[in-house]
Amino acid sequence: MSDHRRPDWSGRLHTLRTECARTGLDGFVVSAPVNLTYLTGFTGSAGLMLCSQAETWLLVDGRYDLAVREAVAAGRLGPVHPERVERRYDLSLAALAARLGLRTVGIEAGHVTVAVLRAWQEAAGKAVEWRPTDGVVERQRLVKDAFEVALLRRAAHLLSDVARRLGSWVGAGRTEREVARSIDSALDGAGFSQPAFPTIVASGPNSAYPHARPTDRRLRTGDLVVLDFGGVLDGYCVDLTRMAALGQVGPRAQSLVEAVRDAQAAALAAIRPGVAGSDVDAAARRVLDARGLGPAFLHGTGHGLGLEVHEAPRLGRAESGASEMLQAGIVCTVEPGAYLEGFGGVRLEDDVLVTADGCEVLTDAPRDLLVV
Ligand code: ZN
Ligand code: ZN
Repeated sequence: MSDHRRPDWSGRLHTLRTECARTGLDGFVVSAPVNLTYLTGFTGSAGLMLCSQAETWLLVDGRYDLAVREAVAAGRLGPVHPERVERRYDLSLAALAARLGLRTVGIEAGHVTVAVLRAWQEAAGKAVEWRPTDGVVERQRLVKDAFEVALLRRAAHLLSDVARRLGSWVGAGRTEREVARSIDSALDGAGFSQPAFPTIVASGPNSAYPHARPTDRRLRTGDLVVLDFGGVLDGYCVDLTRMAALGQVGPRAQSLVEAVRDAQAAALAAIRPGVAGSDVDAAARRVLDARGLGPAFLHGTGHGLGLEVHEAPRLGRAESGASEMLQAGIVCTVEPGAYLEGFGGVRLEDDVLVTADGCEVLTDAPRDLLVV
């Protein structure tokens, strides 16, 4: 049963089984840690999940065995049978597959190395065909369920609260690293377990690098400052970018800010189910192109959010393969930017939920240039 308090692990495992049945698999191995978390709630650093059409096993070694048994008994993990790995994962996996009589078992091609697959093949011999699959669990994760939407909405509100306090940390004479530390400690204070990625504070000419790392550069009058930060709440990631300026900035910076703001508005207006990620990207790109800033837009318009800070779908150029159709229930960022080498850059980023007829912006901090 799905509710707002706990992930619907049973429902997720049922969806995976349905997909297995549809594609002629009588079992499936999940090895990507993030997909294990999604399907079972397990968050350890090592483990494998094997499901048959009837049941699910979670293979863990001695480091996690007791914790997993307790968590299953207490309902803090999905409906799995713990299976202790005594020596090697490949041997335990092959033995379990044999015990269950599984013959055709799906594996996550994007997450199993050649060496690991060879070990599984040697351990199981001819009894099991390990059949590569592509993005099966990732496609399930694309559309968020009620539990996930509620969590991401709450996380986005908390992150926006942090953004509303940026004015107290950004100031002339402070270094980028000092400002980043203030943001990180506010994320901690807001209840996030950790930053979703290394916080970006990029000032003056440094703001021309989309993924700049904070330096010891001191903020000074006339700087544009990109502030891009995110947090992880109960495993789920949110991500936000705001712009600050120290004192009055010149007309060139002003027009950059306006262009990115208008590009973001165009992208937000383009979002609805049935539209490709590349169409949303094109809407932002058209605005920047018209102002002569097309070449200054150095990345895609957005990315999915969930258990990972960058997950499907991609909102990028059609040529980059971002052709996935948006569906209601997807949560993604909308973050166009424009970067001028030697001068500086501007990015604005919000998190949205795709709804039946458009989108709901989850991050609600003011988008105006913060002048300090
Ligand atoms: Zn970001
Ligand atoms: Zn982002």
